Amino acid sequence: MLVAGNWKMYKGPGETRDFLAAFRPPDGVEAVICPPFGSLGAAVASGRTIFAQNVHWEDEGAFTGEVSTRILLELGVQGAIVGHSERRQLFGETDETVRLRAEHALEAGLRVIACVGELNEERERGETEDVLRRQVSVLPEHEALVVAYEPVWAIGTGKTATPEQAQEAHALIKSLLDVPVLYGGSVKPENAPELLGQPAVDGALVGGASLDVESFTAICQAAATPS
Ligand code: PEP
Repeated sequence: MLVAGNWKMYKGPGETRDFLAAFRPPDGVEAVICPPFGSLGAAVASGRTIFAQNVHWEDEGAFTGEVSTRILLELGVQGAIVGHSERRQLFGETDETVRLRAEHALEAGLRVIACVGELNEERERGETEDVLRRQVSVLPEHEALVVAYEPVWAIGTGKTATPEQAQEAHALIKSLLDVPVLYGGSVKPENAPELLGQPAVDGALVGGASLDVESFTAICQAAATPS
């Protein structure tokens, strides 16, 4: 099982060092931390597995505010998230840019967590399957690719997909692409055992609860001992 903590725009280098000095993930789970760009160096120095929250598809160039695979690899970063719903909703990310980012990162030797998931309106209109098919169809089958199913209505809202909803979506994604699938959307120590106990759930992508070392460790513990 893989449990990744997406710190979004929280924790500078000092807080990153403090967290990682205290973080002792249990055996039997791969724990990945995804700090903001400015804290990547401090995070890598801990010796833990560190991913960025995004990566561009060109090796270098006039792309203000972006980061390249070369820079990440030089820093010792092992992978990147692409297509997070906050990137799609707030920063104009599209299926095409997600494809470009994922393909280039994988070619460059980074691991990739590609996020997919439907909006609340899309679920209510019965479009979840179509949305997932469309978002997954642009992703390449690759041994270093992991997909995160993150229903947008469950991210940062305290609402969680039911274990049955997660299982159904994960099974669909796995029928389209033979990759591990993480669940993301308000994962907490209390709901992690049931979600991670679903047969098609291969781990979790955790936002808010990954900022606290105790709650993130508890989620890693649930992944190490699935019910
Ligand atoms: C996320 O940022 O990917 C996420 C799932 O956030 P949260 O756990 O806070 O819902």
